[in-house]
Amino acid sequence: MELVNWAGNVRYRASTVHSPGSIVEAQQLIATLPRVRAVGTRHSFSTIADSPGGALISLAGMKMDLEIDEESATASFLGAHSYGAVAAELDARGWALENMGSLPHISVVGGTATGTHGSGDQNGILATAIRAIELITADGELRTVADDDPDLEAMAVGLGAFGVITRLTLAIQPSYRVRQDVYRDASWDTVLESFDEVMASAYSVCLIGRFESQTIGVTILKSVVAPGDDDAPLERFGGTWDPDPMPGEHHTVRAGRPGPWHERLPHFRPDYPPSVGGDELQSEYFVPRRHGVAAIEALRSMGDAIEPHLWATEIRTVSADALWASPAFERDSVCIGFTWKKHPEEVAALTTDVEEALEPFEPRPHWGKLFGSTDLKRRFPRLSEHLALAERYDPTGKFGSDLLTGLG
Ligand SMILES: Cc1cc2nc3c(=O)[nH]c(=O)nc-3n(C[C@H](O)[C@H](O)[C@H](O)COP(=O)(O)OP(=O)(O)OC[C@H]3O[C@@H](n4cnc5c(N)ncnc54)[C@H](O)[C@@H]3O)c2cc1C
Repeated sequence: MELVNWAGNVRYRASTVHSPGSIVEAQQLIATLPRVRAVGTRHSFSTIADSPGGALISLAGMKMDLEIDEESATASFLGAHSYGAVAAELDARGWALENMGSLPHISVVGGTATGTHGSGDQNGILATAIRAIELITADGELRTVADDDPDLEAMAVGLGAFGVITRLTLAIQPSYRVRQDVYRDASWDTVLESFDEVMASAYSVCLIGRFESQTIGVTILKSVVAPGDDDAPLERFGGTWDPDPMPGEHHTVRAGRPGPWHERLPHFRPDYPPSVGGDELQSEYFVPRRHGVAAIEALRSMGDAIEPHLWATEIRTVSADALWASPAFERDSVCIGFTWKKHPEEVAALTTDVEEALEPFEPRPHWGKLFGSTDLKRRFPRLSEHLALAERYDPTGKFGSDLLTGLG
């Protein structure tokens, strides 16, 4: 495995990657290595997956071994597999997850560890589906933390700090079908005037566009459908329904055509490179729902400065949760994402400006994306407890990360 992340903006300072072929082999490695950190599919833009001066460990070569418990409606499997692979296996057996992020390429364990999310007023971040975690701790022991253990609320968005997760148990539900409808060029003013109504208008809603423009490029509504329910309203929120919104083969099927949940909830297909193929940097901030419109307006007023360096912004919503390191901890949230052009210096400078502009709205950054702020203990009320608990699991800092150490 190359020691660089997917977008190529982070060269890991770890010296090697271990890929053990069994849990026992992984336990032995972890017990003996002085410094090691689990890595997923390397899609994070931040240095969260790095282990400077140490080693990385990937369990992706081991079998998924997915087991379904129908009575508790849970599925347990090796978490290093991608959301796409796990979702296809679940769906083939008649089951589904509540939600997915925009790309199915990421590992389930790496996605949940950073607070990855999709959209939907009633949907939590992906880690809220976790019902149990099996992990190898610093001493090489295999432990299970289930939902009757208060530590689970810390470990679900674990930031790789507690150990190397082997299996995850997630809540599942019977399979369902979803359609995606794309509305073009709704005006920002119209949408922001009725923001709550727009974001509540489907199971999952996202706005993708540019701040300097008067209109939002595309509004995507992902709706759960019943059989036969396939009519599309031709206009919504002043936007025009697009009958052929397929500018790239890498997008999942749109145009209102119903399909399995896992082929509609992500924006990207698993068999193509996602987004702009890695020619990008990303950052994202969660603000409390009540500040969402004001925060977007603040960024619109910076639109001209942002414009030369931005591919697009994406705005989504998620519901509040109880997970200590979650950016949605105890706050229904509006998530404001930036897919930047690969202009590192300009993006770094704009990140400072964006964080300053968002400051009145109590922003919490996405752990897997770029951010400048280090004073995160103020923003994440249980982060100090999270780090203290991680230290109890890992007293010598074997799973340490410069990013987390930098938080003080
Ligand atoms: C094109 C693109 C689109 C994206 N879209 C979204 C989106 O829609 N929503 C969103 O929220 N985010 C999105 N992201 C961000 C992405 O979801 C996160 O960065 C995610 O964490 C990446 O998962 P990964 O498997 O690549 O993990 P990595 O980046 O490899 O690792 C992330 C963290 O997981 C930990 N980890 C990995 N494996 C284990 C393990 N076995 N045990 C313990 N800890 C482990 C690592 O130590 C690290 O801390 C996007 C990223 C890209 C590149």
